[in-house]
Amino acid sequence: MLTLRAVTKRYPTGDLALNDIHLSLPRGQVMALIGPSGAGKSTLIRCVNRLVEPSGGSIHLEDTELTGLSSGRLRQARRAMAMIFQEYALVDRLTVMENVLSGRLGYVGFWRSFLRRYPKTDVIEAFRLLERVGLGHALDKRADALSGGQRQRVGIARALLQDPRLLLVDEPTASLDPKTSRQIMRLIRELCAERDLAAIINIHDVNLARQFADRIVGLRGGEIVFDGKPGELNAEI
Ligand code: ADP
Ligand code: ADP
Repeated sequence: MLTLRAVTKRYPTGDLALNDIHLSLPRGQVMALIGPSGAGKSTLIRCVNRLVEPSGGSIHLEDTELTGLSSGRLRQARRAMAMIFQEYALVDRLTVMENVLSGRLGYVGFWRSFLRRYPKTDVIEAFRLLERVGLGHALDKRADALSGGQRQRVGIARALLQDPRLLLVDEPTASLDPKTSRQIMRLIRELCAERDLAAIINIHDVNLARQFADRIVGLRGGEIVFDGKPGELNAEI
């Protein structure tokens, strides 16, 4: 469903962050992207959602070529991709429910005034998602009253409300303790299976990658140095 061909990114500073990346992600596959700091993991995710403009190559999401889209078409294509962030990117003063719904609205600032007119189907779906991620009891809590693991669960529900086909996940567990990290990775893994979602999960922790991904891609110096099943990964990567 996602294909990168010969993708290269050179930043204006001269850093070659990605060098000739070829990668194809089938529907429903959970891929972990590992590699040392500076390997190009964030750049790769950002090229896919076009927060960063690749310097060369092409990226296709299903039948749409993402490189060179007009901004209107790009906005449309981006709806198929949802982001989950390391620092959750919640709005602290809004409730759990409001944060999830803001994913659909796309513009948090106006959210409160929209409350009454918000499509009922979205509210029902947000409620179901929050139940699914284990926060059905906390809909009215403010985001800043939650633990890190709960905040990430809100981030996951918000991403899924967008009804994406691809999840782009940037270091989802970097701020969490080991036990919570495993719970969050297991949840993402299960939700991908339930919804037939593909995911690219940028993650430092090789053991988590091994445990929860279908496939591991190792980056180093902007190049793919490993691409295979978790069981095929050697210790030295
Ligand atoms: P990772 O996510 O694996 O840590 P990054 O994609 O953040 O790697 O970085 C890859 C390389 O690109 C590094 O050399 C980094 O310094 C460089 N880089 C990342 N973002 C920028 C930027 N906005 N401007 C210039 N260089 C950047
Ligand atoms: P990570 O390694 O988790 O990707 P970084 O600390 O490398 O995060 O990057 C944080 C921010 O700084 C990102 O927005 C990235 O694009 C930017 N950045 C990283 N390296 C450089 C660089 N050499 N020059 C300019 N911006 C950079």
